[in-house]
Amino acid sequence: MNKINNILDGGGFYFSPMGGSEEFGVNFNLYVCDGEYLIIDCGIGFADDRYPGIDLLLPDPSFIEQNKDKLAGIVITHAHEDHVGAVAYLWERLQCPIYATPFTACVLRKKLEQEGIFDAHINVIEQNNSFEIGDGFSVKFIPVSHSIPDASSMLIKTKYGNIIHSGDWNLDQDPIIGIKTEAQAFESIGDGGVLAYIGDSTNSQVSGYAGSENDVAKGLEAEISRHKKGKIFVTMFASNIGRIISIARAAQKNERSVALVGRSLHRMVGVAMECGYMDGLPDFLEEEDIEHISDDNLVIIVTGSQGEHRAALARISRSDHRRVSLNRGDTVIFSSRAIPGNERTISAIKNNLSAAGVNMVTPRDTKNLIHVSGHPCKDEVISMLEWLRPTCVIPVHGERQQLDAQGQIANDLNVDHVIVPNNGSVIRLAPDVPKIVGTIETGLLAVDQRRIIPATHQSITARRKLQYSGAVHASLVLDNNLELLGNIKIDTVGLSCKRSDDCIIEDIREHILDVLDSLDIGLGEDEIAEKIRISLRKYVLNILGLRPKTTMHVTLVDI
Ligand SMILES: [Zn+2]
Ligand SMILES: [Zn+2]
Repeated sequence: MNKINNILDGGGFYFSPMGGSEEFGVNFNLYVCDGEYLIIDCGIGFADDRYPGIDLLLPDPSFIEQNKDKLAGIVITHAHEDHVGAVAYLWERLQCPIYATPFTACVLRKKLEQEGIFDAHINVIEQNNSFEIGDGFSVKFIPVSHSIPDASSMLIKTKYGNIIHSGDWNLDQDPIIGIKTEAQAFESIGDGGVLAYIGDSTNSQVSGYAGSENDVAKGLEAEISRHKKGKIFVTMFASNIGRIISIARAAQKNERSVALVGRSLHRMVGVAMECGYMDGLPDFLEEEDIEHISDDNLVIIVTGSQGEHRAALARISRSDHRRVSLNRGDTVIFSSRAIPGNERTISAIKNNLSAAGVNMVTPRDTKNLIHVSGHPCKDEVISMLEWLRPTCVIPVHGERQQLDAQGQIANDLNVDHVIVPNNGSVIRLAPDVPKIVGTIETGLLAVDQRRIIPATHQSITARRKLQYSGAVHASLVLDNNLELLGNIKIDTVGLSCKRSDDCIIEDIREHILDVLDSLDIGLGEDEIAEKIRISLRKYVLNILGLRPKTTMHVTLVDI
């Protein structure tokens, strides 16, 4: 039993952000009350170019798995991928009761079924209903406005005190669907005393308010009516059902029918229909109907606002879509903003669109409001903290700069204890003053096609290295007198030479022959291979300035 286990098992109330508190995505939060564990959210992250060949990242659940007998349940705050997306991948390792509101439960069930998982028990809980998890946690989903239906903050009551785990939220006072974040609900929670607020930091650097989906509805209607000719594409997050409803209504007012293109849109809208959110809207067109409708009467909602290579927008922009094509004079409205890190791929799409003579409208290009964030800006965080009056604030959900910005807001409001955590920090919330008392070892897993491997796996490190330094492989056969039998076989990847493509291979061959001449008879295969490998590495560094991955096979033959 290691030290952190002793601390967590020794009684008291603890919190540890095991993912999502040094990055966007991979949200995975642990609460421990008198040795009993509760997880809030289990999401994926999108891999950047530090992970060649990898699309998805997951939180490493090893610590929870080692303590599985203590795990009472997983609560999911809402159905965004960064909160729910890892459940299906980690289910085998975590298996425990899951708790979610109806929309989230429906999205999760479909994801699990897609992965062939039918034995997960999802408890569907309505917002504002209290329920017990294990012996120590009394939990309630408190409705909040966010860019997806049924989003909730979690009120967790324990014998040590109450905490609010905010999930993702904003103060949209006029959302298209769902219940808005109610000041009164949070004020009365504040009246009961709040030990800690653990909250969304995404927009803590942005002043003011996020804005309202209802204003976006008006903005989209005005924007769509500006473009009379050609198809209108709107790209956005598939899960923003309120936004899809706004687009459908705006299209109807402009005598345009709406088609959905992209798998995740169909999946999300299917779930929204099941949950009754789309009632009263005209039917969406199927993809195959698009060609039968005149361009001037079409709005096409497409996935891929973040530049995802395989999503609909990217494919359409490079004329690589089976049923949907772009014409000069069509319009693409970006009802979205780039998540940091995605700017380059989005820009590649915009270049394609520009070359195709398409009108592009981003939130910066129009006076109409066509996007608002689902996350709280500074003034919203201030309101929430004033309502709740927590003893302690712990910023989560963001990179270090966003976490620190929320920490600053809390400090400015003279909150007693402000603790900015790292992934894995273990914070004792009670008894005694809240403070960091230890660390849980955390990490990331990478989804490599169908396999799940540590994100630090040597295969990923090797791919990264190959990208920059290339590779050299040589093999040769020698007799006992170190005389060469046959040719030296040499392959290189990603190396270039000034004179010609083959010259580097010839240089390497010459160098290996020189090394062979200098070797003493009597060495074994592995010793010879290692001596040549080291010398060859130095040689390539000298002539090309690169340290390629160098491998050497030597076979000794008795003659
Ligand atoms: Zn999130
Ligand atoms: Zn979210």
